[in-house]
Amino acid sequence: MVKQIFENIELKDLKGILIDLDDTLYPYPPNHHRSMDVCIKKCERDYNITREQFDTCFKSVREKIHIELFGQAASHSRLLYFQRFSEKYFGHTLPAFALEMEELYWSEFLSGMEFYPGAEDFLKRVKMAGIKSCIVTDLTAQIQFRKWQKLDLGRYIDFMVNSEEAGIEKPDACIFELALSKLGLKTGEVAMVGDNEEKDIKGAEAMGIKAYLIQDTGFRS
Ligand SMILES: [Mg+2]
Repeated sequence: MVKQIFENIELKDLKGILIDLDDTLYPYPPNHHRSMDVCIKKCERDYNITREQFDTCFKSVREKIHIELFGQAASHSRLLYFQRFSEKYFGHTLPAFALEMEELYWSEFLSGMEFYPGAEDFLKRVKMAGIKSCIVTDLTAQIQFRKWQKLDLGRYIDFMVNSEEAGIEKPDACIFELALSKLGLKTGEVAMVGDNEEKDIKGAEAMGIKAYLIQDTGFRS
């Protein structure tokens, strides 16, 4: 289904493509769940933390950070989640724990990352058509660069805008404007492709950018 959606994106008359990264070019949930499982097993083995204790503590610190840093790239930072986890569970900041768990999470995540069916063919089609492209993504630069490298996106993609450099997340117009500025294009010359109705689709459409939703539920333009 995702493959069909990518195949149906019309490139005629476009000079640029803006495209989300997470859960648009590759499936996020299986990698996230596998990574969390590896982190939990490590905590069980090395720190005598049960799965239930881990789940309760992690959920609580993540929710608090989401609220405190709403709309900022760092609201998704695994490093901050594990920093707060160490403070809540062990009673003080443990940088070594936070760094170790963050690296464990992302190295496991990256190891299983693969394009969605049809995603790489779509990027090839964009490249072949001479259309410029920019990833527009909500997260910190370092991990998004590592994902770029894992998928070797430099073969197809010209630019990235991440929410760390933009200072704000989608659907805010600033992040889309930064992407347009990097491409040197106007709203009517590009289309946005993404999986999130609120952030990717409504964010782009509010600026007059045509948007394509990548989801199993269907296709619209
Ligand atoms: Mg996404």
